Amino acid sequence: MIGKFILLLIFLLITSTHGHVCYKHEGADWETGACASGSRQSPINIVTANVREAQDVELYISGTDITTGSIHYHDHELKVTYAGATAKYTSDDEESEWALAQFHYHAPAEHRIDGKTHDLEMHSVFVSKTDPGQLLVVGVIYELEQGYEDDEFIASLALENLVSNPATGHIENVPMENFYNKFSNTKMYNYKGSLTTPPCTESVEWFVVKEIQKINPSQLGKFTGKWAGLSSFADGKGSNRVAMDLNRRKVFETGGEETTSSIAFSFLFIAFLVISVVEIGLAAVFTLKLKNPKSVPSQNFVKVAESSENEGTDKLDFDYKYFKRSRSKEI
Ligand SMILES: [Zn+2]
Repeated sequence: MIGKFILLLIFLLITSTHGHVCYKHEGADWETGACASGSRQSPINIVTANVREAQDVELYISGTDITTGSIHYHDHELKVTYAGATAKYTSDDEESEWALAQFHYHAPAEHRIDGKTHDLEMHSVFVSKTDPGQLLVVGVIYELEQGYEDDEFIASLALENLVSNPATGHIENVPMENFYNKFSNTKMYNYKGSLTTPPCTESVEWFVVKEIQKINPSQLGKFTGKWAGLSSFADGKGSNRVAMDLNRRKVFETGGEETTSSIAFSFLFIAFLVISVVEIGLAAVFTLKLKNPKSVPSQNFVKVAESSENEGTDKLDFDYKYFKRSRSKEI
């Protein structure tokens, strides 16, 4: 119990935003902590052509449903504090466990994909169970699609009840298990970054779900109505920070089924093996035939006489050789 309290206290110190966060310049003017001086800041623009395939990296998340709880809304914050999920991160056979501390939203999305800004991004913040200074955040990006069915998870957050600012809403039967199951070991972008709000602490292992989720206008409006679509909040610019420089970092793709490139590589490797075996077999047969000329069908060859019997044809400076009949006609 004391351990959990200390964990929570350290987490609150790390993620404390000291109240109001100004998005009028989309965070470009933040000077607190590592915001201005850091070299591994988040969010970033993910250039998919430069993403590298990670080997032996897996992320499994398991969650237990919220039977009854609360959601908090104040200015840029829209979050649920809930400890009922665990992330298991395996890298190079080393497994680590992380406990969910809270999840929250940004509109528009923070991580850009090939320069495109999508409509909404959810962040699930996990704290390392062995080193509370280390965080793991899973980002889920949404894009507007007309006529798309209501998302069960978002519907369960009852955002329509958060009418004042600030407000605390009652939530129940939030399907955390289904939600996280959907993303367990699916393809994700992975890189080392920071918190996207002051103090921008650079201790975050980032995972961004590769597949962009869809959201209908009605559900999206419940988020944008608080930020991106509200002129009194940051002049309607929304609650996302500008994309930060990647610097020397690399972005990896993790998880999921075999990627197209690895399937293509496997196919090419098998094809190479088959061709090699066939070539070795043909070479062996050919060598055998050369060693035993009698095995070569005689009708295809003529015996070229010794050079002494072919005076004036000084091309022939050897005792004898087998040539194809057609070749002998040219001589
Ligand atoms: Zn966030």
